[in-house]
Amino acid sequence: MMVEILPVGGLGEVGKNMTALGFDGKYILVDMGIRLDSIMAFEDANIGTMGREELININGIPDDAILRGRKVRAIVLTHGHLDHIGAVGKLAHAYDAPIYGTPFTIELTKRLLREERRFKIKNEFRTVTPGDTVKVDGIEIEFIRATHSILHTTLPLVGNGGTSVLCASDFRLDEEPLLGYKTDRVRLKQLANEGLLAAMVGAVRVDNPGPTPSEAHVKKQLEEVMKEASSGGGLILATTFSSHIVRLKSIVDLSFEMGRTPVLVGRSLRNYCTAALDLGLVDFPPELYIHGRPNAVRNLLRDMQRSKEDFVLICTGHQGEPNSVLSRIADGQFPLKVSNRDEVIFSASVIPNPINESNRELLETKLRAQGAHIHRDVHASGHAGKVDTAEFIELVRPEHLIPCHGTSDKLRIMLELGKELGYSSGHLHHLRNGISLRLGG
Ligand SMILES: [Zn+2]
Repeated sequence: MMVEILPVGGLGEVGKNMTALGFDGKYILVDMGIRLDSIMAFEDANIGTMGREELININGIPDDAILRGRKVRAIVLTHGHLDHIGAVGKLAHAYDAPIYGTPFTIELTKRLLREERRFKIKNEFRTVTPGDTVKVDGIEIEFIRATHSILHTTLPLVGNGGTSVLCASDFRLDEEPLLGYKTDRVRLKQLANEGLLAAMVGAVRVDNPGPTPSEAHVKKQLEEVMKEASSGGGLILATTFSSHIVRLKSIVDLSFEMGRTPVLVGRSLRNYCTAALDLGLVDFPPELYIHGRPNAVRNLLRDMQRSKEDFVLICTGHQGEPNSVLSRIADGQFPLKVSNRDEVIFSASVIPNPINESNRELLETKLRAQGAHIHRDVHASGHAGKVDTAEFIELVRPEHLIPCHGTSDKLRIMLELGKELGYSSGHLHHLRNGISLRLGG
């Protein structure tokens, strides 16, 4: 059997991940993501009300026109990050196909669709237990477990026996993830023994030497920073990715351990945390406050101003987003004022694009001007670096290696890595969005 690998988005760029895999004229779509920096560049952009064409024109979602007339049998979602699920509301309705994903991924997708104002999504949702396999019109899809910066991530293996393609855009190899499962090395090793035709492997951090430190290591770093920060007697403000439940749990647990009350504030934090709690993926102590509604937040921050030494405020704003809670505190829009005994911990790195970089610099400048002490990059990436990517490739040993999820320079670094690992040029593929590769047959 021959397989057609057709990247629709996510190659030569970071974001709007989407790939079509064709087997004898039947297609499986993997991911439908948005490209956040393209959308942010238009200040008044409201994704919910925007149309498909409009979003394609600003390079915000994949241009799937190339798939017209093809028989799409399923839409498979790898994990719940917006660069993988954010375009479902704009594109999925065009396909008479069910949407498959793990429970957390499907729950986050459904919540996202509540914001969709333009299209009615009637696709059926089918929840898959991580590790399980489904069969769609003769094509097998196995959801191999992987560790990433969001729970319930999988690496779909799509195809049949000798003509399977592994979709491994977002993963890391973490032996101490603290919560959730580890990347399933045993299963991945089996793939090498069975003979894997091709793997698409994410290149977004392959320029980093690696290996990416474990979440257990980040928790130790956080403990040191938070203890030092606490000794000054001021407020601790901490911010990280709202979808990073493991990291949030580390901050919450450490706050309780040092005798401070953690309080989570911000709409997106509330959304992701309640989704994880509802599915039983995390257990936060019952006394934890999670606030999203503006009035409650205002009263709470007023209380916090009176006894700063008792609290850790966990809020949105790690990229300096202008509407985030941290930015609004820095702008004096809340009854909580930052002063010179307060400490701000950024448990996130800046996602490198000009908008984030300038937003974050502006936010830090404002916070410093008010006397706050800032701790940056108390963080480890959700992606493998060069060493751990090499380890992954050696583990699954695909016949063909296809770098994905990265700008062209990153894709090239992975191709170089492939050469170092003994791949010949005929088995290394620098693909582009909209151009097919045919293998097998
Ligand atoms: Zn991701």
